[in-house]
Amino acid sequence: MLVNESLVQDIVQEVVAKLNISEPAAKYHGVFTDMNDAIAAAKKAQAVVRRMSLDQREQIISNIRRKTHENAEALSRMAVNETGMGNVGDKIIKHHLVADKTPGTEDLKTVAWSGDRGLTLIEMGPFGVIGAITPCTNPSATVICNSIGMIAAGNTVVFNPHPAAVKTSMFALNLINEASLEAGGPDNVACTVEKPTLESSDIMMKHKDIPLIAATGGPGVVTAVLSSGKRGIGAGAGNPPAVVDETADIRKAARDIVNGCTFDNNLPCIAEKEIVAVDSIADELMNYMITEQNCYLASKEEQDKLIATVLTPKGLNRKCVGRSAKVLLGMIGVTVPDNIRCIVFEGEKEHPLISEELMMPILGMVRAKDIDDAIEKAVWLEHGNRHSAHIHSKNIDNITKYAREIDTAILVKNGPSYAALGFGGEGYCTFTIASRTGEGLTSAKSFTKSRRCVMSDSLCIR
Ligand code: NAD
Repeated sequence: MLVNESLVQDIVQEVVAKLNISEPAAKYHGVFTDMNDAIAAAKKAQAVVRRMSLDQREQIISNIRRKTHENAEALSRMAVNETGMGNVGDKIIKHHLVADKTPGTEDLKTVAWSGDRGLTLIEMGPFGVIGAITPCTNPSATVICNSIGMIAAGNTVVFNPHPAAVKTSMFALNLINEASLEAGGPDNVACTVEKPTLESSDIMMKHKDIPLIAATGGPGVVTAVLSSGKRGIGAGAGNPPAVVDETADIRKAARDIVNGCTFDNNLPCIAEKEIVAVDSIADELMNYMITEQNCYLASKEEQDKLIATVLTPKGLNRKCVGRSAKVLLGMIGVTVPDNIRCIVFEGEKEHPLISEELMMPILGMVRAKDIDDAIEKAVWLEHGNRHSAHIHSKNIDNITKYAREIDTAILVKNGPSYAALGFGGEGYCTFTIASRTGEGLTSAKSFTKSRRCVMSDSLCIR
């Protein structure tokens, strides 16, 4: 029989129909129309990954790193175009950071005991297929970060990305699968659906082949995941206060705070969202922000207009999230030069532009009478998220007291918030900070289960 193209297509269609697996919906690897098919494909891939040597897994990770570097600008442009949030320059930095500093297989450490009764190891093994839910504020860098950690740990992953960032997420996910294929690994190490919805997320959360769910997003998704009956890693919202006391280098504090707050137009969950300044230095701090850091001081009337614009009865006005200070001011009829980076003002802690997590470069300053008052106000403003907080101080006692009281996963001292992600600070990078469930800054080991391996009475050669 002659085999022509149309015959081959017919056969493929017939086989696909029999297998009951829909064809990948887009030209991208790992994209399916149906969530059940995405999970089935990821499960098949995981059966291969778990048999791969650590060296082979590391080859995949290394390819992901290279591809992320090569595509950093394309991914960043795509994310800004699709979501309208953030800025390309800072997103490029995020992609290089995630490529360079997200831990791979080296993160999986074995613990050993040896003695008269033999040798016992604790080894970190994969869960299987992990369900991951990702935010629109940082779409591709989160997909890449999660994929590196999860695959390094021997898992595969199915994403249910934010619908507002689906194209960018699919592009990132395609790179991950290409990276695997180029390293001799399987396709579909990272999968998703063409149209992620709450329904597809629900299917994922309830699916028997998903033992662990990692959710990065606001309080709604974290609560949903923690109510799923599955093990959940909840990386939720923050509202990080930056405390400044009278011992700080005030000029540097102004620079660090504005740099951190304006990074990617304030989208990162760790970014400074408000300042609590001790009274004796508050005016000086505000002055430096206005005169040296290109901040715009909003009048009472302008603050009211901003409240009416950026907040709606249902929460944040999505059209304002991740927009620049210039665009936000334009929305209330104020024209400023391009170099204006941030909108500042002074207010009480209950001011809606201060107490809400806005994710836009609007930075309110709350005045405190002393460090104790500042700590009390900062703890209130953090809303018990236990996520991130910052302090500018040279007084070790003040710093220690604040650290104990605020009890957050991240506390940056005397630097911009992004130092916590390894950018201008020591340590590794992650874009999934599991404040609510306690893993903190997630990495490959967060996506493993601990397994004890015991050899009785042998192999101790001490
Ligand atoms: P979001 O909560 O609107 O969406 C996040 C993800 O959750 C999306 O994929 C969305 O589709 C999904 N989702 C939302 N509600 C859900 C529900 N009830 N059930 C299932 N899925 C649901 O958040 P966003 O606007 O995309 O991102 C910004 C928020 O995420 C901020 O609150 C920010 O602080 C937080 N965030 C936290 C981290 C962290 O590491 N802790 C990182 C980035 C963003």
